[in-house]
Amino acid sequence: MDDYLKHALEIVRAQASVRNMTEDEMNSMIKTLTQGIKEAMDVEQDKPEQSEAFALDPKKAIKEKSIVCLECNKSFKVLTKKHLAIHGLTPEEYKVKWGYKKNTSLVAKGLARERRKKMQDMKLWEKRKKN
Ligand SMILES: [Zn+2]
Repeated sequence: MDDYLKHALEIVRAQASVRNMTEDEMNSMIKTLTQGIKEAMDVEQDKPEQSEAFALDPKKAIKEKSIVCLECNKSFKVLTKKHLAIHGLTPEEYKVKWGYKKNTSLVAKGLARERRKKMQDMKLWEKRKKN
């Protein structure tokens, strides 16, 4: 028996002990509860992935749309020198501390990609200009 059903049955059993319920009532209650509990559990299981548990992994701190400061767990688009100074770190010290490569950009992945693309476009444009 899965956990959802077990939980639902416990609740229904408790209800049935305090008031008379028909079998139909019990069945529909179990159904409703199972669905409700399942949804509640799914939500709970989703939570840790998005917050602290993942933020503490430096590799996962740099996300598509944000970068998490591993010192204070706050999200930014760009982790600035100014912010790191609050923690008494320079970007270099921060990277060493958390095991990032020296050339890692402390910006959201999407933003880093945009910047790279802009640089490439600029280079292409410069080339074109020279030719
Ligand atoms: Zn911070």
